[in-house]
Amino acid sequence: MTHFADEARSRTARLLRMAATHDERTRARIVEYAASTPDPPLMGPHGIHTTGCSHCRQTMWMQRDLWVCSSCGRMEDV
Ligand SMILES: [Zn+2]
Repeated sequence: MTHFADEARSRTARLLRMAATHDERTRARIVEYAASTPDPPLMGPHGIHTTGCSHCRQTMWMQRDLWVCSSCGRMEDV
């Protein structure tokens, strides 16, 4: 088991804990989401926020006061 796999697994576990659901279909969707999206930046003081990229429609993460696309690198003001 690699370190990366450990990280990915713990992220999935964290998302499942946040969802706090025992609905198997919801949990399956969360696992799928975690596996199909890029890893978020390190958790900052404001937590993690995401939005859709207007350019490539992939996930953008909020980094300080900027949205940064995880796929194409586009940056937008929040
Ligand atoms: Zn993009």
